Amino acid sequence: MKKLIVANWKCNPATLRQAQELFRATIKAVPKSKNVKVVVCPPSVYLSGFRFSAKGGSAFGGQVSGLKLGAQDVFWEDTGAYTGAVGPRMLKSVGVTYVVMGHSERREQFGDTNESVRKKVAAALKGGLCVIVCVGEKTREADASEYALYVKKEVEEALRGISKAALKNVVVAYEPLWAIGSDEADTPESTLEMALYIRKIIAGMFGNVVAQSFPVLYGGSVNIGNARAFLRDGGVDGLLVGRASLDSKAFGKIVEEANGL
Ligand code: PEP
Repeated sequence: MKKLIVANWKCNPATLRQAQELFRATIKAVPKSKNVKVVVCPPSVYLSGFRFSAKGGSAFGGQVSGLKLGAQDVFWEDTGAYTGAVGPRMLKSVGVTYVVMGHSERREQFGDTNESVRKKVAAALKGGLCVIVCVGEKTREADASEYALYVKKEVEEALRGISKAALKNVVVAYEPLWAIGSDEADTPESTLEMALYIRKIIAGMFGNVVAQSFPVLYGGSVNIGNARAFLRDGGVDGLLVGRASLDSKAFGKIVEEANGL
């Protein structure tokens, strides 16, 4: 399976010009690779500025790339009286192929719940997008079963009601909240446990066969120094990269690490 490396730019950068510069630099820094799929998720307002090629890659300023475009969130209706919302068809129409949902920052700051994430997952899949569902515990309590159950509930509720066939367009990103935007990444050993656990939850919902190859990503303070260890020893199929993706050279190096495995 190809590794999946996702850049989450969050609410950055501040202007279209800067976003175009970062996108151009990212295209340049990311090595062409058959082993790695790279998705860049800028703020939605910039997405249509990154024209996409007929092959499904994105392009900017004459540079065609294999980078895929992703959004950081989506609403569950395509159109209607939902001020401020962006629907799945809108994203699709500007060349988006992936959408992140349930990111902890959306859950904490914008009121996303397991139920709203479930509606977004269903709508995005129906709209032909691939979804990256973020899950992760807030803290590691003394009782390990507590945070494991928290993650289980997030996975089960987000994916409730979707078909086995649709599951091929779903990725789960394990992002412990305490590791996001901090200097404290998880360890590959504990990520491995969580990746196996998430696949066990998937097995319980959809069966062992699909669970075995179900893609799980790790996210939380990924950088050049730890990316390789997560990919090699963390049992994950890729990475969700926040801050480090704003530095095109660092992001390119992370993709290089994935390419070399
Ligand atoms: C994220 O945005 O999901 C993330 C993991 O951020 P960071 O890499 O900055 O911790």
